[in-house]
Amino acid sequence: MDMQIDKAKLEMFLKERNVSNKCPLCGMNELNAFVDFVAGVQAAPFNSLPGRHMPLVTLVCNNCGCTTFISALQNNLLVSTDGGAHNGQ
Ligand SMILES: [Zn+2]
Repeated sequence: MDMQIDKAKLEMFLKERNVSNKCPLCGMNELNAFVDFVAGVQAAPFNSLPGRHMPLVTLVCNNCGCTTFISALQNNLLVSTDGGAHNGQ
């Protein structure tokens, strides 16, 4: 099943958790969340890439490029591309 970040869930998550748009590196209020997730690849054993992966929401600073990630699975931010909710399992 193809999954994507649910934009409404992401916005609610960021608001409920008081996630600031202040960059931890340069201090500017320039952190922006991207709806397209990136996949962190589990790299053990090292020679098995590509293997299991972890969907991540990316926060990127428009000023300095500092990049941080939020687990989409842990925070139940995924939805199937056909519109069905994902239960996080
Ligand atoms: Zn920055």
